[in-house]
Amino acid sequence: MISKVLIANRGEIALRVILACKELGLKTVAVHSEADRDALHVRYADDDVCIGPAVSRQSYLNISSIIAAAEITGADAVHPGYGFLSENPHFAEILDECRLTFIGPRAATIRLMGDKAAARDTVKKIGVPILPGSDGPLSTVEEAAGVARVIGFPVILKAAAGGGGRGMRICWQESDLETAFHAARNEAERAFGVADVYLEKYLERPRHVEIQIFGDTHGRIVHLGERECSIQRRHQKLIEESPSVAVDADLRRRMGDAAIRIAQAVNYVNAGTIEFLLDGENFYFMEMNTRIQVEHPVTEAVTSIDLVKEQILVAGGAPLSVPEGVFHLRGHAIEFRINAEDPVTFAPNPGKITAFHLPGGPGVRVDTAVYRDYVVPPHYDSLIAKLIVHGKDRAEAIARGKRALELFTIEGVKTSIPLHRAILADPRFASGDLSTRFMEEFSRNQ
Ligand code: ADP
Repeated sequence: MISKVLIANRGEIALRVILACKELGLKTVAVHSEADRDALHVRYADDDVCIGPAVSRQSYLNISSIIAAAEITGADAVHPGYGFLSENPHFAEILDECRLTFIGPRAATIRLMGDKAAARDTVKKIGVPILPGSDGPLSTVEEAAGVARVIGFPVILKAAAGGGGRGMRICWQESDLETAFHAARNEAERAFGVADVYLEKYLERPRHVEIQIFGDTHGRIVHLGERECSIQRRHQKLIEESPSVAVDADLRRRMGDAAIRIAQAVNYVNAGTIEFLLDGENFYFMEMNTRIQVEHPVTEAVTSIDLVKEQILVAGGAPLSVPEGVFHLRGHAIEFRINAEDPVTFAPNPGKITAFHLPGGPGVRVDTAVYRDYVVPPHYDSLIAKLIVHGKDRAEAIARGKRALELFTIEGVKTSIPLHRAILADPRFASGDLSTRFMEEFSRNQ
């Protein structure tokens, strides 16, 4: 049994984990950098430990300081949140050696699925569709050109260690390959320390549809329906919703079954997400995320399952609380990522929040760790709040989104709120005519 959880993260997700622990009657430990002394997760945890200077490498990514913090405070489990060390197999292994429970999957699973080229191979072997592409990483431009000629252009080069939309390059014709190959490798090397890139067919107008899965330590694995995350900029999600207008009961069953088979093939434990690209009725495995996702609240809204509490309980050895049998997604939920950034250029805009007012009312949830007079530090990712709206159907969720965004006041820093309001006013969004190119086309029309 787990009794005290250290949260190896910051911001809204650190607070989200603390809330789950409070409901479960568990004690919490916040770790923080010198830049985060005034953060809410520090204020609300039972214990807190400063683990280093602002720069993440020396604090939130500093494994030995985090383990020392757990030992000093008597924590017996660690929740990694998302980002930072959440998909670092070495971290999961060391925790294991120190007899601390990692609230997530096994280290071996993280390692296998963290290599996107190896994950493709694993998935191909069990017969779940993947996009045509290279077998593993490519050594030379000539090799890339050979594969691209066989599958046809356009193709996309992707970093094997990828994440956050980095290390990807689209090639529309053979003459694009040379520059793109070196650029993708350089970006991958800089971002992940591993230059390996692979190649797959580029779909021109797909939807991004992912399946939430959950496994317990007793061998049971379930799926909890889909999230559509097609509204992206620079391959990063901006708005997510569940269910997807493009997924009917039959497609949900087929995608859910495929996701469960993938999870079974890697003995998956805890919360995970299988990402697919959906092209008409056809879906293709893209990657697996072996952690809780930023967009998990939309699934919580339509399934009434608290995914973070479930993560902690399952890590402590409990069987999944999800009932047997086919479930129904209840109503419709949409999440808006509110970033401290310029809504036009997307450049980060850290600084002091001078006014702050949260929307409320039926069907509105806000996950945030900022407050009035809080200074958004420049060192971390620019997500400062998530607005999640839930309605009986998509139209009601959109109406709630509009009125909540209208009342949501954040002053002092620029945010993505005006962008979200413009997207909600767009007739194409309202009609559900989405694809991963939506934002590109939307920006052109503004
Ligand atoms: P990351 O791990 O960096 O988030 P993903 O593999 O999840 O990268 O891809 C992120 C996004 O990039 C997808 O949601 C999609 O919009 C786009 N993308 C990735 N692969 C393809 C592809 N083969 N065809 C079209 N778009 C793609």
